[in-house]
Amino acid sequence: MRWGFIGASNIATRVLPALRRIGGQEVVGVVSRSAERAAAFAREHGLAQADTDVARFLAEAQPDAVYISSTNEQHCEQTLAALAAGCHVMCEKPLAMSLADAQRMVDAAAAATRVLGTNHHLRASALHARMRELVAAGAIGRVHGVQVSHAVYLPPHLQGWRLDDPAAGGGVVLDILVHDADLLRYLLQAEPRRIHTSVAQAGLAKGAVEDSAMSVIEFEAADGARILAQTHESFVARHAVTRLHITGTEGSLYAEGSLTQAGAGRLWQRDANGEREIEVAPVELYDIGFGAFVRACAGDGAPLASGIDGLRAMATALAGLASARDGRFHAID
Ligand code: NDP
Repeated sequence: MRWGFIGASNIATRVLPALRRIGGQEVVGVVSRSAERAAAFAREHGLAQADTDVARFLAEAQPDAVYISSTNEQHCEQTLAALAAGCHVMCEKPLAMSLADAQRMVDAAAAATRVLGTNHHLRASALHARMRELVAAGAIGRVHGVQVSHAVYLPPHLQGWRLDDPAAGGGVVLDILVHDADLLRYLLQAEPRRIHTSVAQAGLAKGAVEDSAMSVIEFEAADGARILAQTHESFVARHAVTRLHITGTEGSLYAEGSLTQAGAGRLWQRDANGEREIEVAPVELYDIGFGAFVRACAGDGAPLASGIDGLRAMATALAGLASARDGRFHAID
């Protein structure tokens, strides 16, 4: 496919080589709000076109697909424009700033019969896929609890809008809790029903933006059983390791270091037979995620995370933010 990139972002520089490693993919141009940034990005990555206007770019370049990695408040309108131009869309998370907008995106993709994917990259991890299989196979009995520690230190080159701009969708809840909500839906094959979230500023965020969050999320499994999850997201955790702990009636699964962009991590299973490490080879998350998306556009399967998956993750994060404001549990619509 011929791809357009909307957003001259940091993550786009990581996705671009991943796309180029997939056969038959060409990135034809980039759109930025700044002519200088667009030109610099195009020059650095060898793209033929650089533009500042999404509609003009879509009309002139006529890409088959777009990757949207602008700041969050732009995702919805850019996705709608790309779908209207006949493109498949891989959009960054959070899909939008409101559920109504996310629903418009999902509906527009369905009406246009185009593929809409959400770049929840953690679904691409082989370690997470193994955890999901073990949970589904009943390897640790009936799952009843999960703890997630997704606390990281936001690198200095990303210490911008995420920390001080609510209008751009800043804050750790829209940035990382959406990933955790999506990953738990994937791992547990259960739906989040209620959330209670507390947020804090612990050194980096300013104004009305949070850099730390902890939540309790109640999930409902297919058989109606309740699974309790605790999550911690942070931008200010120096020298921390990410952790994922799933507990069941017959054992537990414990992963360290898997909640990153690296596609690595270590996994252990504990049960009546003792503790053993489950070897899982590292993978390139963006190669796998975009590979699945490319196949879905060709009619083979579905994106790892669909537009609806992106919407469900957002619903969880938005309910978490509402809970942080009033101190109550919120239903997840
Ligand atoms: P960046 O801050 O790098 O880029 C976001 C936008 O900021 C760019 O599109 C660009 O706007 C503008 N920008 C970039 N560099 C500069 C600069 N030097 N000065 C002024 N403005 C600049 O964000 P990220 O790449 O970290 O995130 C982009 C999106 O991707 C977000 O939605 C985020 O949630 C998501 N993301 C997803 C990840 C994943 O693994 N799924 C990982 C990281 C981010 P313009 O295009 O108009 O030039």
